[in-house]
Amino acid sequence: MSNTRCDKHKKCISTTIDQVEKICAEKGLRFTKIRKAILEIIWESHQPIKAYDILSRISNINYSEKPPTVYRALDFLMENGFVHKINSLNSYVGCSHPNEHSDCYFIICSICNEVQECCDSTITKTIKKVLNKNTFKHNHIALEVNGQCNDCSDVSKK
Ligand SMILES: [Zn+2]
Ligand SMILES: [Zn+2]
Ligand SMILES: [Zn+2]
Repeated sequence: MSNTRCDKHKKCISTTIDQVEKICAEKGLRFTKIRKAILEIIWESHQPIKAYDILSRISNINYSEKPPTVYRALDFLMENGFVHKINSLNSYVGCSHPNEHSDCYFIICSICNEVQECCDSTITKTIKKVLNKNTFKHNHIALEVNGQCNDCSDVSKK
């Protein structure tokens, strides 16, 4: 288990896996063993994980899966909003509320690497207004804010 500060992280994991299982059942999506294994690896902490770390973890837990299989499973998880890619870190985090949102924003601590997912429809509306003004057809909105989380800025003050 990595050094996440979340004090109820076991709950985070089980709640999310349950939710994803339910969503997959409702939508008729197949939550295969490999997809579940990858989601669990990503959810080990709130810190983003790189694709090659996922690959090496998968081979550690004795999956004979080839990289393309892992990447396809990762694509599945992203397409369905169970996992998000943090572009600035080229890494992945689990979605903490896959039922509730379409556009989300990330605040990323550059010291402890924890990523928090925030949803705010007013931000989405404002961005869409700008897109309309520029008649720009968007595929995906991703907003990432880098900085220091509360815990880490406290430490640096001491
Ligand atoms: Zn947690
Ligand atoms: Zn999300
Ligand atoms: Zn931090």
